[in-house]
Amino acid sequence: MADLLVVGSVALDSVETPFGKVREALGGSATYFSYSASFFTQVRLVATVGEDFPESHLRLLEDRGVDIGGLQASKGRTFRWTGEYGYDLNEAKTLETQLNVFAEFRPVLGDGLGRVPYLFLANIDPELQLDVLRQMKERPRLVALDTMNFWIQGKRDALRQVLAEVDVVTINDGEARQLASEPNLIRAARAIAAMGPRTVVVKRGEYGALLMTEGALFFVPAYPLDSVYDPTGAGDTFAGGFMGYLAAQDRVDAAAMRRAIVYGSVMASFTVEDFSLKRLTRLKPAEIAERYTAFHELIRVEP
Ligand code: AMP
Repeated sequence: MADLLVVGSVALDSVETPFGKVREALGGSATYFSYSASFFTQVRLVATVGEDFPESHLRLLEDRGVDIGGLQASKGRTFRWTGEYGYDLNEAKTLETQLNVFAEFRPVLGDGLGRVPYLFLANIDPELQLDVLRQMKERPRLVALDTMNFWIQGKRDALRQVLAEVDVVTINDGEARQLASEPNLIRAARAIAAMGPRTVVVKRGEYGALLMTEGALFFVPAYPLDSVYDPTGAGDTFAGGFMGYLAAQDRVDAAAMRRAIVYGSVMASFTVEDFSLKRLTRLKPAEIAERYTAFHELIRVEP
């Protein structure tokens, strides 16, 4: 079992879906990621929060054993994201992004963090992703990155720079098309691989996830659920299951990657069953194992 380091956003999210809404609930790419990955391995979190961030949210992460020593408290307000979804839950509409403390944040990797073997650069300013990568004292065994339209539009150059140095990118389908300027998803994945990462994972919401590694394809459907309340965080939770599993196995070969995207889909399928991290905080390890088996049944076919 190897340690997993993540840098990304820790946020207060206000979200509305056709099934309800929350205001200033716990969210953020690094939050969902680390909570999810904590079911698999030791996670170490680097991020920042403002003075208004509730203590109880920190306890939730600590209770899962996430090392929050790298979570800096800054003067000012916590990052805030406001979004909504229509009946098509696959597409989030951002209503407001307030960077707040992330506008001035410079991560500092103390306490052995520079030698952690698995690194996830969760969705955040690509300049911060690059900064963390530069501070690594040893090249991690696996570096993965996630991003979104906000940064593809706003920081394309920095994003291209960091993409050139990572092994894996996880990205949703709309953003893959946008990043590659290519409507066909397979061509888009290939174009993104040509930017640097040898493995591209395209997240397709209720249509599952596509893994392209050195040109070879693998596909996993989303778990069929009859009650989806809030898809926020599904992508980061997916990445947490994916990277958490690889770090726990300490393997990065193609067979491990295939199982890892099933674990990613398993974890994401829980997150969407409630708002914020509510479903994850009730999750039992046995449920993860059960749903992995259910996935296996779902996709198994005789040759
Ligand atoms: P997803 O897993 O793609 O649904 O990501 C949802 C999370 O991303 C939310 O909890 C937000 O707080 C966070 N988020 C939204 N916009 C940004 C941004 N521009 N940078 C970093 N994190 C963001």
